[in-house]
Amino acid sequence: MSKYFVSKFDDLEPYVPGEQPQDMSYVKLNTNESPFDPPKEVVPVIRDAARNIRLYSDPESQELRQAIADYYGLEPENVMATNGSDEALNYAFMAFCDAEHPIVFPEITYGFYPVIANLNGIPYETISLKDDFTIDSREYENIGKNICIANPNAPTGIALPLEEIEQIVRTNPGNIIIIDEAYVDFGARSCVPLLYKYDNLLVTQTFSKSRSLAGGRLGFIMGAKDLIADLNTLRNASNPYNVNRMTAKAGIVTLRENTYFKNSCHAIQFNRRYTRTALEKLGFEVLPSSANFLFVRSDRIGGEELYLALKERGVLVRHFSDPKISDWNRVTIGTKVQMDIFLQKVEEIFKKQDEERAAEEAHKARRIR
Ligand code: PMP
Repeated sequence: MSKYFVSKFDDLEPYVPGEQPQDMSYVKLNTNESPFDPPKEVVPVIRDAARNIRLYSDPESQELRQAIADYYGLEPENVMATNGSDEALNYAFMAFCDAEHPIVFPEITYGFYPVIANLNGIPYETISLKDDFTIDSREYENIGKNICIANPNAPTGIALPLEEIEQIVRTNPGNIIIIDEAYVDFGARSCVPLLYKYDNLLVTQTFSKSRSLAGGRLGFIMGAKDLIADLNTLRNASNPYNVNRMTAKAGIVTLRENTYFKNSCHAIQFNRRYTRTALEKLGFEVLPSSANFLFVRSDRIGGEELYLALKERGVLVRHFSDPKISDWNRVTIGTKVQMDIFLQKVEEIFKKQDEERAAEEAHKARRIR
């Protein structure tokens, strides 16, 4: 820390993103990216947009917002486009939370929420998950505080039914409820239809996962027009050209290529089921996921030990050091080939463990004799 860094950030702990090795030699199942390329139309459109790269992008992202609004049956004024949905979440926390308006989120959830709360000096409270890692939605009803919930939740992958989200939104009418739908396309129900009924709801989504544009950095937030206008005030006060011209065009194309999108999501669901069944056969506990990842643990091996053993064998998964979940690993669902490599490496690790244990037993037996 330099001597110039202002003291209010002394204790700020930044978010630690998953590893992004640049040599690309890993089977990368650690940051929930799509294993599929975006539709083939995307690259030519990006190339075309790059011809005008000397010019700023549209600060209103009009064409993109119109495309998102059309997709969801909203108006462009209900949508703000952002540089990844992390940016949308940051603006939403910044706009609607402060010392008098704290925010509440689950104790185990996306690690970025406490970081942006701290960054913006916002007090936050967390609510424990139930023993089965589900969110007890009743604990969020009538609490009179702003709330942020990832649905499906991360890193568990477990989704809340729409009716329970509606209860939370309906019973906290004086507060903002942010639903982070980064993974919704992989099997949960979106609460976008609730936007027609409630003016205290904000929904964030991303093009990073189901639309294969993680490196393009594109997200968006949807809500009542006055909420979106407030968010735009902050965006225009911080980074008015937040979505670059190549990414905006790429986003529009992925919205248009809907069959491709649906097929990718179905492939992930198929591979998720396949991987879950195989892991359960190997004795793993696997949470019921509606996302493009599985949260898994085994009695045979600790979370960190498995993560390291897989890494040594060229497979990256995500391990979290938080003691409440340190027995677990989050495994992104990739292609069938990638999942087979992952499963094969897990079996190899278990086999080695068995051999080592047998050798140890034999050694002990020899000593006793
Ligand atoms: N929400 C959740 C729950 C996530 O896991 C992520 C990805 N790390 C994001 C939001 C943000 O993704 P992006 O900024 O790429 O849209």
